[in-house]
Amino acid sequence: MSSAAIPPSILTFEQARHVVEQHAAGLRPPAKESIELLEAAGRVLAEPVMADRDFPPFPRATRDGYAVCSADLARLPAKLKVVGEIRAGAAQSSALQLQRGQTAAIMTGAPAPPGADAVVMVEYTAARGEIVEISRGVAAGENIVPTGAEARRGAQLLSPGIRLDHAAIAVAASAGKTHLEVYAKPRVAVLATGDEIVEPHVPPGPTQIRNSNSYSLAAHVRAAEGEPIILPIAPDEPNRLRELISEGLEADLLLLTGGVSMGKHDLVEEVLAELGAEFFFTGALIQPGRPTVFGRVARSAGEGIPATSTYFFGLPGNPVSTMVTFELFVRPVLEALSGMTPRKLVFLHAKLKSEIKTKTGLKRFLPAVLTGEFEQAEVELVPWQGSGDIAATARANCYIVIPPDRERIPAGEWIAVLLP
Ligand code: AMP
Ligand code: MG
Repeated sequence: MSSAAIPPSILTFEQARHVVEQHAAGLRPPAKESIELLEAAGRVLAEPVMADRDFPPFPRATRDGYAVCSADLARLPAKLKVVGEIRAGAAQSSALQLQRGQTAAIMTGAPAPPGADAVVMVEYTAARGEIVEISRGVAAGENIVPTGAEARRGAQLLSPGIRLDHAAIAVAASAGKTHLEVYAKPRVAVLATGDEIVEPHVPPGPTQIRNSNSYSLAAHVRAAEGEPIILPIAPDEPNRLRELISEGLEADLLLLTGGVSMGKHDLVEEVLAELGAEFFFTGALIQPGRPTVFGRVARSAGEGIPATSTYFFGLPGNPVSTMVTFELFVRPVLEALSGMTPRKLVFLHAKLKSEIKTKTGLKRFLPAVLTGEFEQAEVELVPWQGSGDIAATARANCYIVIPPDRERIPAGEWIAVLLP
């Protein structure tokens, strides 16, 4: 085997991220399925949700108090005659047409009666028998949401491609949806490679390492509502590796870990090249995660079926590298395969607690602890032994982002932080 088929292409972080985003944008949405409303929480919406009625369907009181004609309160205190009480759910009966000088007690969520253009909060009133004395004026429209002000019947409330969070589920419930069309979960094959790697249930030999990457990736995939498929560990031997990679390419996305560095037994790229892979990059100027590989392999389609391809990522085997590169590169592709519009990376800023010294040339994403809140957010690196130090990462709750041109960042500087 020769590695001549793989032109090395090492990109900056921003270039690599851009390449991934471009490919993600070109992916077709997956199949749809209809599921019960609550089951759809966390899934990606595949249909538009429309308002089936005006929101609100009647002029809705937003306070407990008295429905009034605001002009009756021009002089204060005002005395109005109480002609009724309107509870939430009360029929919008025209019997309660307010005349000037009249008022009706009204509850939050009840329909304001014709003739009323505002609600005075109960706190500014004193009822004496049939008369209520009002001590504060209101502007027309105050404490009433007009019919259709939130959405007109037929308006689109939710768009396909959003992840259904609690607020979106609430909107769908309000629009009378008991079921929602969502996109099918993408199947993501996870393939760990390495002669030294054993599964967690196997007692490891003195120089063997337990497979943690398959599990961190599968957990990531599951949290992103994908369906992980953990394949058996591939040895650093081309035949079995080829078999398992071929199996993984049957899924919607293949995530490999290990075997992408410069070592003599790092065979992942060669085997992928043999299988006809197209490589978009074979490294990014980041730490951890420099040897990350991104590409795709055309999938043989049956006659008359348009050819498709499966994207793959070859992630470095170091466990922290695997986690970071999932965040930086895999997530947008996985989101697009889920039918979602991929989210942009969002960086917070926090004050650095203690000085960082490093080398220039790589953009760094280093495990760190963020504490404090509001204007007091502070961050500091977790002491670690490099990108194999999984225990350090478990103590961290974010990554400090260091630009490639910085050698020293003094304590007290506000720096970018990436939340996983
Ligand atoms: P590699 O990228 O194959 O050179 O591996 C880099 C480092 O990550 C080595 O120390 C491996 O033992 C370790 N490693 C590779 N794969 C895994 C895995 N699946 N789980 C835990 N550690 C791994
Ligand atoms: Mg290896």
